[in-house]
Amino acid sequence: MEGLHPDVESIVLSEDDISQIVQRMGAEIGADYEGRNPLIVAVLRGAVVFTADLMRAIHCQLGVDFMAVSSYGDGTKSSGVVRIVKDLDTRIEGRDVLIVEDILDSGLTLSYLMKNLESRKPRSLEVAAFLVKDIPGKTPAVHPRYVGAHVPDAFIVGYGLDFAERYRNLPYIGVLKPEVYS
Ligand code: 5GP
Ligand code: MG
Repeated sequence: MEGLHPDVESIVLSEDDISQIVQRMGAEIGADYEGRNPLIVAVLRGAVVFTADLMRAIHCQLGVDFMAVSSYGDGTKSSGVVRIVKDLDTRIEGRDVLIVEDILDSGLTLSYLMKNLESRKPRSLEVAAFLVKDIPGKTPAVHPRYVGAHVPDAFIVGYGLDFAERYRNLPYIGVLKPEVYS
């Protein structure tokens, strides 16, 4: 592996860790959805890298589509008030839908998205979150069916996750140095 990016404080998940997690999740999802042709819904832009790997680790028939949302709020924390910037091109009525998210923090963004998709009457609606942030005393608004790993309450970048659109291309998950964003 290349050297650690100078703005990254520490590695949380290496490329090898990520690959093992993705294989494990893909096998589980593939077994659960066998014969059901699920629609994988990736939430742009952060979940793109994980989705690209995950879908290749799922060995049943599937489709993929994308949504983009933007949260209104005070900037760094999500408010749960969400606007759909790009909607699905696929009808999901009667379809098994699996939302793929990069990281679940408060879960407010996802909770809004799930209510919105639920109103379109999918056959089932589940969430696969690559990361879930563990915040002491806080329970996320959504309980993902599939979870890659739990991470501490720090600002995480890499493997699709950005800060101001940077670091998405890092092949590992790391903690951003606080001096970079403060
Ligand atoms: P929630 O609505 O669950 O509080 O926020 C979820 C969204 O906030 C994620 O999809 C992601 O875009 C962003 N987010 C939350 N925590 C982090 C983090 O540690 N690093 C990065 N890069 N984005 C985060
Ligand atoms: Mg996101």
